[in-house]
Amino acid sequence: MEALRLIRGWWNDLLSVIFPRVCEVCGRQLVDGEELICTYCNASMPRTNYHVSDFNPVHHRLAASACVDRASSWFEYRRTSPYVDLILKAKYYDRPDIARDMGRIYSREIFKSGFFDGIDIILPVPMHHIKQLKRGYNQAEEIAVGISGTTRIPIGDNLRALHGHSSQTRRGAFERYLNVAGLFGVANPAELAGRHVLLVDDVLTTGSTLSSCCDALRRAVPDIRISILTLAAATR
Ligand SMILES: [Zn+2]
Repeated sequence: MEALRLIRGWWNDLLSVIFPRVCEVCGRQLVDGEELICTYCNASMPRTNYHVSDFNPVHHRLAASACVDRASSWFEYRRTSPYVDLILKAKYYDRPDIARDMGRIYSREIFKSGFFDGIDIILPVPMHHIKQLKRGYNQAEEIAVGISGTTRIPIGDNLRALHGHSSQTRRGAFERYLNVAGLFGVANPAELAGRHVLLVDDVLTTGSTLSSCCDALRRAVPDIRISILTLAAATR
């Protein structure tokens, strides 16, 4: 066992010489004990700390269309912030590993707060299958894998994207809401009856996608409890 650990250590050292692990925010080479981002970027991250608040801006943004139990986001999403790169790489640059790592690190960070207590199933915000085929993965699913690794809460695939919606980036809040209304469905409502689910996505901007998911879940399963976790949240 000891020999195996030694060999694994040498192997990791060798890999890090050939492919140095770098901070995904600033590009500096990572040292032992650092994961994904360096100590400096970790300490400077614009954390929201929403997980310790009973009512926070994420709740507020979803309040109009959804009654949400707990809601949290790791850091503030500002267009000029270097931390946005984490989200963009995980989404558009073929780096599902970043999404997984972020899910794991964030869930570990807030685990002791009790945020995950009583949650039965993690539901990643689904992506239409054609889009997922093109991208090769759904970043929300990868985040869910990271969270599930920490919390041991199973991941469900009960929430489905019914058809593709066009890109959200250039739309106003109301247009976005209309664009995603009725786009999600529940495959097997009985499985979620009386359950507490954690809806997971990479970033919350207007909240229209998550609101639409909440609407679909509540329509299909009236007694469902819903909590929300995203890696980043746009602040206004
Ligand atoms: Zn850094």
